[in-house]
Amino acid sequence: MNKNVGMEKKMIRFNVPPYTGREMENMQKAIESMHICGDGEFTKKCSAYLEETTGTARCLLTTSCTHALEMAALLCDIKEGDEVILPSYTFVSTADAFVLRGAKVVFVDIRPDTMNIDETLIEDAITDKTRAIALVHYAGVACEMDTIMDIAARHHLMVVEDAAQAMMCSYKGKPLGTIGDFGCYSFHETKNFSMGEGGAILIRDAKYIDSAEILREKGTDRSQYFRGQVDKYRWQNFGSSYLPSEINAAYLYTQLEVAEEINDARLARWNQYYELLEPLAEAGKIDLPVIPEGCVHNGHMFYIKTKDMEERAGLIQFLKENDILAVFHYVPLHSAPAGLKFGRFHGQDRFTTKESERILRLPMFYQLTPEQTDYIAGKVKEFYGY
Ligand SMILES: *Cc1c(COP(=O)(O)O)cnc(C)c1O
Repeated sequence: MNKNVGMEKKMIRFNVPPYTGREMENMQKAIESMHICGDGEFTKKCSAYLEETTGTARCLLTTSCTHALEMAALLCDIKEGDEVILPSYTFVSTADAFVLRGAKVVFVDIRPDTMNIDETLIEDAITDKTRAIALVHYAGVACEMDTIMDIAARHHLMVVEDAAQAMMCSYKGKPLGTIGDFGCYSFHETKNFSMGEGGAILIRDAKYIDSAEILREKGTDRSQYFRGQVDKYRWQNFGSSYLPSEINAAYLYTQLEVAEEINDARLARWNQYYELLEPLAEAGKIDLPVIPEGCVHNGHMFYIKTKDMEERAGLIQFLKENDILAVFHYVPLHSAPAGLKFGRFHGQDRFTTKESERILRLPMFYQLTPEQTDYIAGKVKEFYGY
């Protein structure tokens, strides 16, 4: 396979799935081991890697982050009529997981600096029906976790971290995904580490491990059976099939083996964009991402903020004419048809809509070169007459 796939011609794609060139070797090994369903050697290696590097009690690979979030909602015992507080500026899966359980999603506004949930607005949205806070570490930059965990403790709420974009990130030294009751990672092809489609759930408290394993194995204690802890496996509870195949886990493990290298490469491109575009920010033309003190990010995303939607459309068009694909995302959930049906916005929408209309994401992927980054930043500057 060509390592430069996606970079042929002159067009610079917005995303190229992470690829090291050695994935096939491990996938071949998985196939030849004659164990290609879930929970074989590669799945174990990936889970062990994630447990060791984050220090969480248990990590289970899943078929997606969406499914990890669904598991989290089930483990939180969310029921019909419960309320869950979350930002409206997020991917649909954060809300879907709870809506599928019959919960009402209560949106609160975001902070304009990090695009994360505004922790100072959470407490006011709590009612006697509130059961959980689902937060998103946007672009791998942490939410204000001390405040959020304090609110959760005082009101006896569960905390689910949608850390889809936040592997290898931390808040005051604590890995994201390990601070709340449950953390969910994504290994979709658009994320820093991938297995095509896949994810993981991180379980902080050991008391949830058994039920999580049963839930993930169609409601059976098959995981315990495979470890020799029970002599037959039986139907124990409701469950589903959230195990990824070994072939996918083998692809992911190849990348985890060089995780530092992949992370460093992304951070180098991120820093390069930042330095090149800083003059535009200083001149007041654009805004750049903010990384609060105590937060370590992973270069998941490089975004800029334009003056408004019109300027953004113009810039996207200009970049396209110069063979660069830049995109925006997240139509705020509260304004979408399902958001109107399943949720409500608590308080005022001061930043969610306005800031979401300004965001523009520049190409960012492991194989992005310094030359391409130079070229892209140069074109952004040219658009603003610099
Ligand atoms: C990518 C993403 C998801 C969904 O991940 P999948 O693995 O595709 O299910 C959920 N939440 C956020 C914030 C994401 O960025």
